[in-house]
Amino acid sequence: MVQEHTALTVALEQLKIAAEKLNLNKGLYEILKRPKRSILVSVTIKMDDHSIGVFDGCRVQHWDVLGPFKGGLRYHPNVTLDEITALSMWMTWKSAVVGLPYGGAKGGIACDPKKMSIGEQERLTRRYVSLIADYLGPHRDVPAPDVYTNEQTMAWIMDTYSQLKGYSIPESVTGKPVEIGGSEGRICATSQGVSLCIREAAGKIGLKLKGAAVAVQGYGNVGYNAASILHYMGCKIVAVSDSCGGIYCAEGLNPYNVRVHKNKTGSVQGYEGSTNVTNAELLTCKCDILVPAALENQIMKANAGKIKARIVAEGANGPTTPEADRILYEKDVCLIPDILANSGGVTVSYFEWVQNLTREHWTLDEVNVKLEAKITKAFADVHKLSVKEESDMRTAALMLGVGRVSHALKTLGLWP
Ligand code: NAD
Repeated sequence: MVQEHTALTVALEQLKIAAEKLNLNKGLYEILKRPKRSILVSVTIKMDDHSIGVFDGCRVQHWDVLGPFKGGLRYHPNVTLDEITALSMWMTWKSAVVGLPYGGAKGGIACDPKKMSIGEQERLTRRYVSLIADYLGPHRDVPAPDVYTNEQTMAWIMDTYSQLKGYSIPESVTGKPVEIGGSEGRICATSQGVSLCIREAAGKIGLKLKGAAVAVQGYGNVGYNAASILHYMGCKIVAVSDSCGGIYCAEGLNPYNVRVHKNKTGSVQGYEGSTNVTNAELLTCKCDILVPAALENQIMKANAGKIKARIVAEGANGPTTPEADRILYEKDVCLIPDILANSGGVTVSYFEWVQNLTREHWTLDEVNVKLEAKITKAFADVHKLSVKEESDMRTAALMLGVGRVSHALKTLGLWP
């Protein structure tokens, strides 16, 4: 499929729409269009075969007027500064929409972790942290997992940062394993938030979740856990996919068994009783709820008109282009935007940070109760504003996020 956009052109177009609706001061708009700081690094490591590996990395810190920078770290061959800048901007709005005291950031390294050993991934992570350590820290910038990084990556980040400072600093990173200060519920948090938003949206449009057909694109942390939680809530998971392609089964799939198959064979494809489909076919398959949970720019002008789902819940960041947004809105599809739908991840990351700072450990029940309260309030705020503004939910969410950040920026003023 021809790309209509880059992630950054999407993020900038979204900001433009929100700025116009908010009648935002031109100077504030110009400030928010750019990140406060972009750090480019060359991450050089010893490879297992004794050669030298050189990888381009970056950390983009968008704005921090509501609190320290916060955002994931992505390892992917196609990582670019442009993409990471867009993702950092979405983090700023996301934290503001849920009311978290954070700014937005994102990091990335252009690499293919599938082709690297664990040792190479560890050296890559530690070297990257050593290069940007001066700009990290519990009150400066707190990384978290994203595509192809996980709990283990976060443990290496915590250890490297702590070793450089000379003492243990669990609050320097979130998404860590529970044994070293991670929060209960963090692994499932993003998908828990996606599922809560779907529940709220289904209530608004009168869709019964029991038996509702769900298609999920991407079968990693967000996609797999969303499929499992929605299955548990009574939905029928009819299609799932990963980077190799997808599978469809009208009678419904068991997410756990598909996971076992993927672990064994490397892909969801070929799962017994299902039909192989492409990722493009998955997006337009017959379903009630679609959860894109892979990468950006998946739902575009070319395929938006063919989407059959009544609810699209963006587990991924930036999966829908502005043209596709308009087409879905005209088709009366309820699109729950990324900065609301996948905000459960940063919300429980915030809980983890608070637990680390206060040296407390909350139970899973405590985490889930607090998460539900934050997500349902954010959903209600966004939905109410979309009704008032007669707009789609994305525009309403952006108005809330951009509005709160620009207000803080104005109040703080510029120094000197
Ligand atoms: P992950 O690495 O755990 O999983 C990514 C999945 O996407 C894998 O199954 C991979 O096979 C699949 N994939 C990759 N390329 C694909 C393609 N072209 N088509 C279909 N599938 C493809 O990553 P994740 O943490 O689940 O992140 C997925 C999305 O969710 C990203 O957009 C990320 O920014 C967003 N997100 C993640 C979190 C989090 O807490 N992990 C929070 C908020 C948003």
